[in-house]
Amino acid sequence: MSTLYVVGTPIGNLEDITFRAVRILGEVDLILCEDTRTSRTLLNKYDIKTPTMSFHTHSGLAKIDKIIEMLKEGKNLALITDAGTPAISDPGSLLVSKVREELGEDAEIKTIPGPSALTAALSIVGLPDHQFTFIGFLPHKKGRETIFNKIADAEKESFVFYESTHRIEKTLESLKEHFEKVETQNRRVYLARELTKMFEECLVGNVEELMQKIAEDSNKTRGEFVVIVGPNFK
Ligand code: SAM
Repeated sequence: MSTLYVVGTPIGNLEDITFRAVRILGEVDLILCEDTRTSRTLLNKYDIKTPTMSFHTHSGLAKIDKIIEMLKEGKNLALITDAGTPAISDPGSLLVSKVREELGEDAEIKTIPGPSALTAALSIVGLPDHQFTFIGFLPHKKGRETIFNKIADAEKESFVFYESTHRIEKTLESLKEHFEKVETQNRRVYLARELTKMFEECLVGNVEELMQKIAEDSNKTRGEFVVIVGPNFK
C-alpha cells in the first residue's frame, strides 16, 4: 500500500527537523512542496536528492487527481510546505482531505511530526489556562468583525492566530477598538515574532503597550507573527 507522509519542516532554523523526517524525505519517490525553490534550501542542507513537485494553493483539482493517481500506482509521497506542519493554515489540508476522501483505506496517511508556529509560540507563552481557540489566519473581510467581537467578548478565554507583517499594525488597532467597546483594555496580548530565526522575540503587554513598542521601533513589525490574546492581566 502506498503512503502519503505529511512531514513537519523547520519554521526558520533549518536544524529544527527530525532524524525521521530527513530519512523519509530521502526514501520517498517524490516530495510535494508548496514552493520547490524554498524547500530546495532545506533539501540541499540534508543532501536529499528526491525529486520534487509543486503543490500549492493554486494547484487546482487536476494536480490533486495526478497525485491520487501516483498513490494508486503504489508510489510513496511526502508532503511538505514552506514552514512548519502541513495542513495547519496552509494548502496541505485540501490535499490530505481529498486523498482521504478518494482513497479511503487504499492509502496510508502518516504524520512525521515536527515544528509548527502554533505550538512553538504556545510553548514560550505559558498561557494561564490550557484551553485556547486557534483561528488560523483572520479573514480579511467577511467574518473579520465577528471574530474580533468574539475575542473581545470572551475576556476569560485565549485565542491564537497567524498574522503577517503587512497587517499586524491594523490588527492591533482593531483589537484595541473592540476591547474599548467592551471596556476590557487590559487583555494580555503576546506577539511571537520570527520564532527560531535571528530576530526572534516575544512581546507581551496589553494592546496599547504593544502598539507603543511597535511605534518606537518599526523593526518590530517585520517578519512573521503568531498573535495570542489571553485573559486580562490581574
Ligand atoms: N503550517 C505552518 C505551521 O505549522 O506553522 C503555518 C503556515 S501559515 C501559511 C504561515 C504563518 O505561520 C505565517 O504567516 C506566520 O503567521 C506563522 N509563522 C510561520 N513561521 C513563523 C515563525 N518563524 N515565527 C512566527 N510565526 C510564524
